[in-house]
Amino acid sequence: MLPSRLNFTTAIRTCIKPMRVRLAGLSRESVTDGPGMRITVFFQGCEHHCPGCHNPQTWDREGGTEYELADVFDLLRDNPMISGITLSGGEPFLQPEAALELAKDFHARGKDVWAYTGFLWEHLLKENDPLRMALLRECDVLVDGPFKQAERVSGLVFRGSANQRMIDVKSSLQRNQIIEWILQVG
Ligand code: SF4
Repeated sequence: MLPSRLNFTTAIRTCIKPMRVRLAGLSRESVTDGPGMRITVFFQGCEHHCPGCHNPQTWDREGGTEYELADVFDLLRDNPMISGITLSGGEPFLQPEAALELAKDFHARGKDVWAYTGFLWEHLLKENDPLRMALLRECDVLVDGPFKQAERVSGLVFRGSANQRMIDVKSSLQRNQIIEWILQVG
């Protein structure tokens, strides 16, 4: 017998580590943060303070709204049109444990995972923080580096400035060199 919706939700909840996450907001149908229609989660808190940042309200680590992670999972379910999740901010790598749980859940459902970070790829690898590296390994594409006003050019897709790289994470880790993700047109 199929479980009732309530029981199914309860079963999912038992798999989620109890933790809290601080978010600046959510977009349920974004088409600008990666390919296809995506859910974008904007994490609260950012230490990069890029001049010209469009979201300075996300900088304060005590700002935004704090949620139980299980409640965020409930908010993000039930849209079959979604192709993946984008972890954005703010800085998702400041809350790597919660971001990792979201990424794992979307992968388990056959969706892809993008993340935006103000850190450089090289910084994350050199730092080698266990939680941040676990999150990095769970991403399909990482858009790295700070937003730079001087490198903002028209026509950029999925990036704010030209210095930011869209990195194919799995290929880059396998080959130990940065392999950029290429947008397939047509
Ligand atoms: S990393 Fe992103 S959110 Fe943080 S200051 Fe830079 S542009 Fe703003």
